[in-house]
Amino acid sequence: MDAFGLVHVSTGDILRAAVAAGTDLGREAKRYMDAGELVPDSVVIGIARERLAESDVQSSGVLFDGFPRTLAQAEALGDALEELGMGPPTVVNLEVDDEEVVRRLSTRRMCRDCSAIFNLDADGLDVGDKCPKCGGKIYQRDDDKAEAIRERLRVYKEQTAPLIGFYGERGLLVTVCAVGEVDEVARRVVEAVARHGGG
Ligand code: AMP
Repeated sequence: MDAFGLVHVSTGDILRAAVAAGTDLGREAKRYMDAGELVPDSVVIGIARERLAESDVQSSGVLFDGFPRTLAQAEALGDALEELGMGPPTVVNLEVDDEEVVRRLSTRRMCRDCSAIFNLDADGLDVGDKCPKCGGKIYQRDDDKAEAIRERLRVYKEQTAPLIGFYGERGLLVTVCAVGEVDEVARRVVEAVARHGGG
């Protein structure tokens, strides 16, 4: 996140890049991703551990986006941070109701080249348009279509929501209301993380 000079690491972006490159990892991950299911823990934990050990993350710190998503991932992250002498994480829980999640995901559009995220309503950019940042092609993710969104919400409730308790009990959780404009929500996150002493 810019405010704290952290390196942004999205496990979803790494997996989508592997799918686009047609690697073994990409081929394995694709069927889970298209269905809105989670990629197996062993695969994602391997990716995160490797990325954590890289020099940019070691010198600047990291903002993981979309990781951890299961208790097994949270435990593996804790072990990896300890092994690397990085200290415990600050975990940001962005609170927003299901209806708004569905609205945001179904109107989300993305650049195939630079992974920049846009919104059909807010930015007026749709599939086939040119990315204003890099000139790449705008597309809609398959898992941002109605059926996959419903499955992702179900998976979130079953496998990811328990992390709220896991990190809450350890005093590592910061909960932020994510309803509102992007800049306003970003400001709330920065303030809440700074207040918590993280970042
Ligand atoms: P995202 O871009 O974070 O929404 O992730 C897109 C998809 O990639 C998810 O629906 C999963 O299939 C997969 N994925 C990304 N991060 C993880 C993770 N931490 N654990 C398991 N699967 C993941």
